[in-house]
Amino acid sequence: MTQARKNATPSEIEKFSSMASHWWDPEGDLKTLHQINPLRLSLIDKTVSLNGKEILDVGCGGGILSESMAVKGATVTGIDLGKDLLDVADLHRLDSGVSVNYQLTSVEDFAEQKANSFDCVTCMELLEHVPDPGSIIKACAALVKQDGYVFLSTLNRNPKSYLLSIIGAEYVLGMLPKGTHDYASFIKPSELALWARQAGLELIDSRGIEYNPIKRSFSMTHDISVNYICVFKKPSQHR
Ligand code: SAH
Repeated sequence: MTQARKNATPSEIEKFSSMASHWWDPEGDLKTLHQINPLRLSLIDKTVSLNGKEILDVGCGGGILSESMAVKGATVTGIDLGKDLLDVADLHRLDSGVSVNYQLTSVEDFAEQKANSFDCVTCMELLEHVPDPGSIIKACAALVKQDGYVFLSTLNRNPKSYLLSIIGAEYVLGMLPKGTHDYASFIKPSELALWARQAGLELIDSRGIEYNPIKRSFSMTHDISVNYICVFKKPSQHR
């Protein structure tokens, strides 16, 4: 086993793999990902103009974001460490007729073969599930081309986030299976920004994704206190 492969928590991969068969059920365990996908897709498309671009989706799971970016005309590669998830992603892509190249590899290993290859790298809802998020961010930064974009999303670590994303989403509203998230692994925007800066990325935008329990819908906001997405650029002088 390589050093890179160790930057994964096997029980986390197993947890997501156990959801593989419901991945594409819009009312199933991954309902939240289905609901937020149009919002994050729109942010990515507005920022990078997906049509004709080379995109890497790190921790693609069953392919919800990967497929939607391919539908917008991007050439998409999706990588994950969950084999069952990639099988589901592959079956779904065959069914929907959308072209996505799925590969079972760690992002650190992939960065050794494909440095500076992608116009944009997305890594959504993964960083709070790994032992060393900084290593994932460093590999994402290596994979993106100069002047390319990296999108990272995760959960902020504060009492409000604990209340809404664990107590609210998992226990009160039942939006996510119980045990989906571990509060101690949540990431403050300042921590994310530091790892990104150390990897040579510049922060250009950050947005929150907010849930309205009355309307039962999500919207994009500038409040990054709970679930948030940061957009980074790799400057052209970066080596
Ligand atoms: N990014 C997708 C799926 C999020 S669920 C989306 O937002 O729609 C988290 C995913 O991260 C799962 O597919 C899980 O298998 C994957 N994952 C967890 N640790 C990983 C690691 N170290 N490397 C790659 N993928 C990982």
